[in-house]
Amino acid sequence: MNPQFQLDRLVRPNILALKPYSCARDEFKGNARAMLDANENARITPYNRYPDPLNLDLKERICQVYGFDDPHCVFLGVGSDECIDMVYRVFCRPGVDNVVAMNPSYGMYGVCADINDIEYRTVSLRPDFSLDPEAILAACDDNTKAIFLCSPNNPTGNCIPDEAIELICNRFHGIVVIDQAYGDFCGATLDIVDKAPNAIVMRTFSKAWGHAAIRLGMAFASREIVALFNKVKYPYNISLLTRREAEAALDHADKVEAIVKEIVDAREKMAKELAKLPIVKKIYPSDANFLLVEVTDANAIYQHLSQEDGIVVRNRNSVHLCNGCLRVTIGTDEENTLLINALQAYGK
Ligand SMILES: *Cc1c(COP(=O)(O)O)cnc(C)c1O
Repeated sequence: MNPQFQLDRLVRPNILALKPYSCARDEFKGNARAMLDANENARITPYNRYPDPLNLDLKERICQVYGFDDPHCVFLGVGSDECIDMVYRVFCRPGVDNVVAMNPSYGMYGVCADINDIEYRTVSLRPDFSLDPEAILAACDDNTKAIFLCSPNNPTGNCIPDEAIELICNRFHGIVVIDQAYGDFCGATLDIVDKAPNAIVMRTFSKAWGHAAIRLGMAFASREIVALFNKVKYPYNISLLTRREAEAALDHADKVEAIVKEIVDAREKMAKELAKLPIVKKIYPSDANFLLVEVTDANAIYQHLSQEDGIVVRNRNSVHLCNGCLRVTIGTDEENTLLINALQAYGK
């Protein structure tokens, strides 16, 4: 356990004091005979009613699939992006506090920091993309409210070892976010949530679950942290359409698991094919559904793929430590073949 961690002292005072929005339906328990409290249109169905603010049923289903105990320890957001933003809104005082993140990593941590007027401190990964936990801790001061870790990391594709994450959770006085958007591709676990009261693990329906369009992200954390997030979020952030589509996806969890295996196989096949190409200098190992590939001329190849072949990849050439790199998502077999063929033809 972390002796220095005190949740109440970490939370912004205005949030600690906040009285959340409440509606009449929160107070009424049981089956109403007439629902005349919320100024909805009772004459047009089925989307006329405000959705459930907490969606505990859906959280229970998510817990079953992830082997997680307590639905009250799950927060649902409009994508993980809302979960990330929530960390700033709940813990970080604008113009005063800071967060620490690894570099390179997911761009939204910095964008949300800027939006919330929070200093964003970055700590370089090592050239082999491994994380130096001591360097992360050394970048923190009394006003550091959160550390953002991403595992598997975007765009580098590698996982952070559990020991490093635990060490940071144990030694840091603030919140540690572990963004596992790609965790479903490498069997990542939520175990740290039970071990560390300051850990928030984030997952999403956008990647392995194949539901980026419904905008559903999850944060797993202590009941206390989840209660704070629930207090601050928009009351009806998760629409009924999103909930229904998420339930349908969860009904087919075994199918998704099989597709994840296919994607991992396709990734290894793609790595082998790429390795044969003279324009490919290096393929970084990946625990996710993408490959970071160093090529001879990233900008030119990126342009060529996009303009001549209609193939969109992510140019990471100007990203720290990713000089010369393109990030390629594993697509359908057809898409993957298109890419390999286009790269084979490039420069010929
Ligand atoms: C794609 C991605 C997300 C997903 O965000 P959503 O808002 O859930 O779509 C979160 N974190 C990382 C690192 C990602 O790459």
